[in-house]
Amino acid sequence: MPLIDMYGRKHDYLRISVTDRCNLRCVYCMGDEGVEQLTHSDILSYEEILKVVAAGAELGISKIRITGGEPLVRKGIVGLVGQIASVPGISDLAMTTNGILLPRYAAELKKAGLNRVNISLDTLKPDQYRGVTRCGELQQVLDGIEAALQQDLKPVKLNTVLMKGINDQEVVDFLRMTLEKPLHVRFIEYMPIGDHDRGYPDHYLPLSFVEEAARQAGLPLSPVPLPGGAGPAESFSIPGARGTVGLIHPISKHFCDKCNRLRLTAEGNLKACLYWQDEKPVRPVLNDKKALQALIRDVLTGKPVEHQMAANGICGSVKPGAMRGMSKTGG
Ligand code: SAM
Ligand code: SF4
Repeated sequence: MPLIDMYGRKHDYLRISVTDRCNLRCVYCMGDEGVEQLTHSDILSYEEILKVVAAGAELGISKIRITGGEPLVRKGIVGLVGQIASVPGISDLAMTTNGILLPRYAAELKKAGLNRVNISLDTLKPDQYRGVTRCGELQQVLDGIEAALQQDLKPVKLNTVLMKGINDQEVVDFLRMTLEKPLHVRFIEYMPIGDHDRGYPDHYLPLSFVEEAARQAGLPLSPVPLPGGAGPAESFSIPGARGTVGLIHPISKHFCDKCNRLRLTAEGNLKACLYWQDEKPVRPVLNDKKALQALIRDVLTGKPVEHQMAANGICGSVKPGAMRGMSKTGG
């Protein structure tokens, strides 16, 4: 029986956070001091992660995304990629990374069986990049993007969180990147996630801002099929461009009705929705595949019809949302 929830949504996608640690501290994801880190014994071992993947694959999970924190800071990550790629039933293996370590790892990841990467990049200005990430060097990510293109980890997608007063004046520069290279730039709305984050009210901008900026710059956006298949983005391209532009509106036009995702947090809790606090630990049932599969179905049964980030972010709490930043839940 495939994984179908109470609202008829089929689930074939598992996002796995392999660590809560990171080599950056992005303003929308972590507080000034970073986040309190889990200890090594708190986080799932690779062997434990593989048990969840194998149990899920038998239930119809075919797509896996490795994320974090920053997945490339966890020791032995290339080995995990190789092991997940060889689990029967897994046909698409992707990673979300800040790209800093991609120059070092892109070739090995490709060889191990990684199909594609999403690289997070919010600004093309070195000083601004240092500010948003609190310590990052832009050139390292740009080199990471080149490494991903060279290794054909495609489609190479860029994740760009749109922030009023921070990168809103760079929208056209990002759009132009798609003209020159086969890059798929996806603008994402700022989400009010985590208790440290006070930036949402000041910096949230709806993605209609991107459409307007494109119009004003004379760069018409025509709808195109999504690169790499299904997903939450609306996809467009500029005539003659080698890449595409994606708009991901978790707030202004949420896509909960098409949600096909489950999430495994770094410490081993299974979540059906990024936003709400509900989650169940997998550790107690890891050695019993039937019980683990029953737990996966159970988590899905409790999946809410939608998140309420917009209501909570603007008006205060409807019911408590996730009080952890994305680095802990896995973005
Ligand atoms: N460290 C990796 C990276 O940055 O790509 C993977 C983990 S990160 C948590 C995954 C994605 O979540 C990134 O693209 C990041 O921009 C996004 N993200 C984190 N906090 C966010 C927020 N408050 N609103 C929107 N996107 C957010
Ligand atoms: Fe690290 Fe990614 Fe969070 Fe930035 S968004 S602090 S790179 S986990």
